[in-house]
Amino acid sequence: MNPPNVSGIGMTSARTRERLIARLRSQGISNEAVLERIRSVPRHLFIDEALASHAYDDTALPIGYGQTISQPYIVALMTQELIGNLQPGQTLGKVLEIGTGCGYQSAVLAPFARHIFSLERLHPLAERAKARLRELKINNVTVRHADGWRGWKSQGPFQGIIVAAAPETIPQALLDQLEDGGRLVIPAGGGGAQRLLCITRDGDKFHERSLGLVSFVPLVEGKT
Ligand code: SAH
Repeated sequence: MNPPNVSGIGMTSARTRERLIARLRSQGISNEAVLERIRSVPRHLFIDEALASHAYDDTALPIGYGQTISQPYIVALMTQELIGNLQPGQTLGKVLEIGTGCGYQSAVLAPFARHIFSLERLHPLAERAKARLRELKINNVTVRHADGWRGWKSQGPFQGIIVAAAPETIPQALLDQLEDGGRLVIPAGGGGAQRLLCITRDGDKFHERSLGLVSFVPLVEGKT
């Protein structure tokens, strides 16, 4: 029988995952359920093997097609803001995600939502994310190859909307598809000055809170 794999990635990742969690904590991520989820999702499976030794660094990494897997701090922050003060055992209802990329953010968010509807404009990334999520037995995420600018009207309204690419101004369709009381977490802004926003719907009003400056790939209109 082969000995268990205790070398290389296995060992490195146990230690480096703990280091990552400590770092996120020191940067202000305080939701224990979110920290635990970041600890347990195997980020190294979402990136190219050649980059695996960096999987638990707090950095964005290339995933091909000019796109990146988001920095863990940003994924943790967006997840924490989207779920607000959910109690243990509770989940959000339907969540819309724009910009599936490799599927890492979807995997982190999965236990906090009843169902995630995720849109990705690049076909190969959408297919790869579907396969990865299936492998990890994450069954409450539906990935679709489509342009996220118009949201996913037939599945809405959504209790949460999370956007992983930055438009200059917020697409009206996303505001329209937000449930009353729901939250939209989105980077927005042009000219190299993007801010991460958490927008809460209150009837016809939208309350906006800035979570700071960020740097996302642009939200591109149209699918390929
Ligand atoms: N959520 C990913 C981050 C992906 S990067 C993660 O967990 O790492 C942002 C993604 O948004 C890219 O894959 C890009 O192709 C996608 N994107 C950009 N514009 C889009 C649009 N209009 N509709 C859907 N996806 C879009």
